[in-house]
Amino acid sequence: MGKKKPRGVCRICGEYKKLSFEHVPPGATYNKQTVQLVSVRDYLEAEKRKDAMPWELGKIKGKISQRGRGDYYICEKCNNDTGSWYGAHYKKFVNVLMYIMHQEAGKEYKSVTLEVREMRPLPIIKQVMTMFCDINGNLTRNDSALRSFIMDKEDQGLDTNKYRIFMYLLKGGIEKTAPLSALIHLGESEPVMVSEIAAIPVGFILYVDLPADYTPQGTEITNFVHCEYDDIATITLALNIYENNTWLPTDFRSKEEIKATIEKSRKWEEEHGIRC
Ligand SMILES: [Zn+2]
Repeated sequence: MGKKKPRGVCRICGEYKKLSFEHVPPGATYNKQTVQLVSVRDYLEAEKRKDAMPWELGKIKGKISQRGRGDYYICEKCNNDTGSWYGAHYKKFVNVLMYIMHQEAGKEYKSVTLEVREMRPLPIIKQVMTMFCDINGNLTRNDSALRSFIMDKEDQGLDTNKYRIFMYLLKGGIEKTAPLSALIHLGESEPVMVSEIAAIPVGFILYVDLPADYTPQGTEITNFVHCEYDDIATITLALNIYENNTWLPTDFRSKEEIKATIEKSRKWEEEHGIRC
């Protein structure tokens, strides 16, 4: 039998309750198999030992999960509600994207334009925001509008100035669950708050309070919230195809680019007598 379910504060409704295991992304979208979970600390330790590139998961020790990626983020009611309101529509969308990626396999395209028919934009974006609330414990804490956006399937009141959601197609490499972190670009004053969830065939990026002068990654889908729950739409999306080779959110550098950066910085360390 499984372990006793832990209790804690549900990251959707905010109540202290018995929590249930939530797959992120949903189990029905290719996330039920055994996976190797590698934490940022595992990566950094391997990097210090200089014996593994960021994408060489086989050389980095991690934890094995036999039921896919996820955790005890939310209570049973929120898990069941979001699953039944949003899950099937999200799954259908991901299945279309998986089909497209199979078609594109082996080709060198960097982007693709596709038309997705008979999809339900609002439940899809609600599922995406549910996943971001799952992995970012603080998101709903002081934001009743966000809480109600997820807990009421008809609600369209997401603050679309604050939260902006982008997506891309993922063709390979590391699958990521990156909670909100600040990207700091030298020469730019404001840090950029970003979270990312990526699992083949799709990656989602959440920017919080995106600075107006910053160019975000991916294709914006925030406007899915303007559809009503029952609206069925045909949507044309031009999506970039990326490969994830590091755990850093929105880092889509190729292996060659990463190798060059690492070599350059190691050379600099040697020249300056720095040992890490
Ligand atoms: Zn709950």
